[in-house]
Amino acid sequence: MIIGCPTEIKPQEFRVGMTPNAAQEAVSHGHEVYIQTGAGAGAGFEDADYIAAGAKTVGTAEEVFAKADMIVKVKEPQAVERKMLREGQVLFTYLHLAPDPDQTHDLIASGATCIAYETVTDNRGGLPLLAPMSEVAGRLAPQVGAWTLQKANGGRGVLMGGVPGVGPARVIVIGGGVVGTHAAKIAAGMGADVTVLDRSLTRLRYLDDVFGGTFKTSFASAGNTIELAQAADMIIGAVLIPGAAAPKLISRAQLADLKPGAALVDVAIDQGGCFETSKATTHEDPIYDVDGIMHYCVANMPGAVARTSTIALGNATMPFMLALADKGWRQACLNDPHLMNGLNVHAGQLTYDAVGEALGIDV
Ligand code: NAD
Repeated sequence: MIIGCPTEIKPQEFRVGMTPNAAQEAVSHGHEVYIQTGAGAGAGFEDADYIAAGAKTVGTAEEVFAKADMIVKVKEPQAVERKMLREGQVLFTYLHLAPDPDQTHDLIASGATCIAYETVTDNRGGLPLLAPMSEVAGRLAPQVGAWTLQKANGGRGVLMGGVPGVGPARVIVIGGGVVGTHAAKIAAGMGADVTVLDRSLTRLRYLDDVFGGTFKTSFASAGNTIELAQAADMIIGAVLIPGAAAPKLISRAQLADLKPGAALVDVAIDQGGCFETSKATTHEDPIYDVDGIMHYCVANMPGAVARTSTIALGNATMPFMLALADKGWRQACLNDPHLMNGLNVHAGQLTYDAVGEALGIDV
C-alpha cells in the first residue's frame, strides 16, 4: 500500500501523523511512505530522518494525496484537504464529526473511507487513540498551573513543593480519569499536597489502592468539592461525562470564596469547561483573570509539547495503521471490532450512529 502523510495545516498544529519510526515500520512491512517536505519540522523531525527510515518526501500536499492509498494525519482534514480526498482512499486521523456538519458532508461526498482516531475502542472500554493526548494534557496541567501560580503571572506566588520550613501548594484535581490521574502524579511529584476528587467510588478505590501514599482521594459531592477548592492554591478540572458538556463545578459567585491568586486549570475546556467562568484560550495568550482568580483554559494543550505528543500518538496509532496497510481497511476492520468502531464514513455513507444522531443524517 502507498501511505501518505501531509503537513498539518490547521492553525497552531505542530504535530505530524507519522513519526520516522512509524514510517520505518510501514516500509519494513513492504509499504511505500510519502511524507510532505517539512511535515515533521514542528515536532522536531527532519526530512532526512524520514528518508533514512525509507520514506520518500514530496513537495506538496496535492502530491501526497494524489499518490496515497491511505492518508495518515493528526487533525481533521481542512476544507482544502477534503477536496483532495477521492473515492476508495482511506483517511486515518482525528475527525470529531459530531459538531462539524460541513466536514461530515464533505467526507461523505468524497467517497473516501474515513476512520476516526477518537472512536476506536479497546477491550477495557477505553479510547486508546484519545488516551495518549489525555495523558499529555494531564501531565502538562500541573506544569502550566505552577507557572500560572507565579506572582508575575497574577498567581498567588506559591511554589509547588514549598521549601524546608514552608508548606507545599495545595492542589485539587476534580475528575480522576486519565487526565486527572496523570495530573495528580505530576503534581505530587513536584512536591504538592494533592487530593483527587471523583464521583465514581470504583475509581476512587482504584486510585487509593495504587496511589494511596502519593495523593489523597475524596468523593466529589458539591459540598466536598467547594470545601477543598476554598483551601486550594491550584484547582485542575479534569472531568468527563461522555457525550455531554462538562458540568459546571465552580460558579462565578464561588470564586469569591477561593484564595486570591489561585490557579484554575480547566483541562475539560474542550467539552465546554467545568468552571462557569472558563472560556477557551490559546497558547499565545493562555491565562486570564476573573475576580482575582487566574484561569488557564487552553483547548489543545498537547500542542504545547508537539514532539512528545506526536511520538505518544504515533505509538498508539502505529499498530492500527499497520493493520490497515497490511490487510486493507475492510479485512483489518473485520478482524478487529475495535478498529471497526473507528469507521465513521465509507463510500458516500455515514456509518457512525452518534454522528448521525447529532447531525440528523441517515446512517
Ligand atoms: P476520563 O473519562 O478518563 O475521566 C473523567 C473522570 O471524570 C471520570 O473518572 C469520571 O468519573 C469523572 N467525573 C465525571 N463527572 C464528575 C464530577 N461531576 N465530579 C468529579 N468527577 C467527575 O476522561 P479524561 O480522558 O481524563 O478527560 C478529561 C477531560 O479532559 C475531558 O473533558 C477531555 O475532553 C479533556 N481533555 C482536554 C485536553 C485539552 O487539551 N484541553 C486534552 C485531553 C483531554
